[in-house]
Amino acid sequence: MTIKESSLSELQAKIGYEYTFDCVQCGYCLPACPTYETMEKETHSPRGRINLVKMAAEGKIPLEDLREPIEKCLGCQACVTACPTNTQYGRILDGAKEVLNETDNKSNTQKVTEKVVFEKLFPSSKNMDLLGHFMWGYEKTGLQKVARKTKLTNLAPLKLGKFEAVLPSAVSPKERKSRKNYYPANVDTNVTVALFTGCIMDSTFFETNQNTIKLLNLAGANVYIPEEQTCCGALHSHSGEVNQAIELAKRNIEAFEQYDISYVINNAGGCGAQLTEYNHLLVNEPDWHERAKAFSEGSRDISSILWELGGVHHELKTKEEVVTYQPSCHLTNVQKVVDAPKKLVENTPGVTFKPMKNEDRCCGSAGIYNIVNYDDAMDILDVKMKDVKPTNPQTIITTNPGCLLQMKMGIKREGLEDRIRAVHLVDFLAERLG
Ligand code: SF4
Ligand code: SF4
Repeated sequence: MTIKESSLSELQAKIGYEYTFDCVQCGYCLPACPTYETMEKETHSPRGRINLVKMAAEGKIPLEDLREPIEKCLGCQACVTACPTNTQYGRILDGAKEVLNETDNKSNTQKVTEKVVFEKLFPSSKNMDLLGHFMWGYEKTGLQKVARKTKLTNLAPLKLGKFEAVLPSAVSPKERKSRKNYYPANVDTNVTVALFTGCIMDSTFFETNQNTIKLLNLAGANVYIPEEQTCCGALHSHSGEVNQAIELAKRNIEAFEQYDISYVINNAGGCGAQLTEYNHLLVNEPDWHERAKAFSEGSRDISSILWELGGVHHELKTKEEVVTYQPSCHLTNVQKVVDAPKKLVENTPGVTFKPMKNEDRCCGSAGIYNIVNYDDAMDILDVKMKDVKPTNPQTIITTNPGCLLQMKMGIKREGLEDRIRAVHLVDFLAERLG
């Protein structure tokens, strides 16, 4: 074997070359792809991206030709759901990102940002707590008002300032510290679960986590909150930082194994999808694979478990409200949870549920896609809002923090803040408790 052949076979193993042969080029995935719709290029469609990966893996085009089409992919996996041959595009995408990440074509700013965020911030519950405390101080000391008034927020890098305006209210350090490690169910039960709190979820959407515990207790589940848990590693995986994602997966598996539980519950579609991928992530580590498989098989989205336990609608107050639902792509296309959130909404007393057209189309949030590819994400969001408006809702319900902020952004861009709100499903149910 020549050196060239040997490095090509290494590349092929890493980039998911074997999966590219499942694609028969039929094009059924094209209408499902949001970037093909808004960017109108074959190279920005699933079929085009698979072809590019195949050609790069065969040495026919330089790896750099992959970069833009792959970076502009949302990773929503709508193409996987649409594909009649079950082509595992997600594996091809992750492989391409890992390979591109290794080619070290990043600016120094990008390298430093990724190092700080991926290695120091997300994996450290202490640092994420500090971020939560900072957000509270920023809001309560009046700094937020000053920053908005003087447009200081516009100076934040990567358009982060735009998202600052749609963040939820922060929770006080005192309230955060008062959270316990165990919350018993409101009834006698033999169902015990543990909550995956997430890094961004817990620092920025703490209230949603607290409401998740409340609903689980009401539905008849005891809830543990393992302190040793860490970030799920989804953003690391989607940025090609596979080794970091593997380390985080191991830490989480160890943290939850200490508890005698039926399920690991999450309330963020993207994080939940990553938890169900641990099985695949650790497939080449014999000491870990069985443990990862058990962890992934025991992971459940909050909507699934609530519905499985009989729902909480009998505990909810009646309030008339017209509601539509924006599913999380990773909840639909990776976790394959489709009906449970809708059933919970439909059974809420007083609710008129109006499904939107193309509801399974990505809103453009996609992890940090809307931060790093802001303009493309806004094009995709504008298409989404065209489907939201005819339902004339008072409320858009979502099941993922990223989708929630993106829908809030869509409402703001359309100037509909006085008529429509966006809420996480968990908070929507909790606000109706007696
Ligand atoms: S990915 Fe699937 S749907 Fe898309 S072109 Fe290939 S075989 Fe057809
Ligand atoms: S993951 Fe989403 S954006 Fe990427 S190719 Fe598939 S459908 Fe298109």
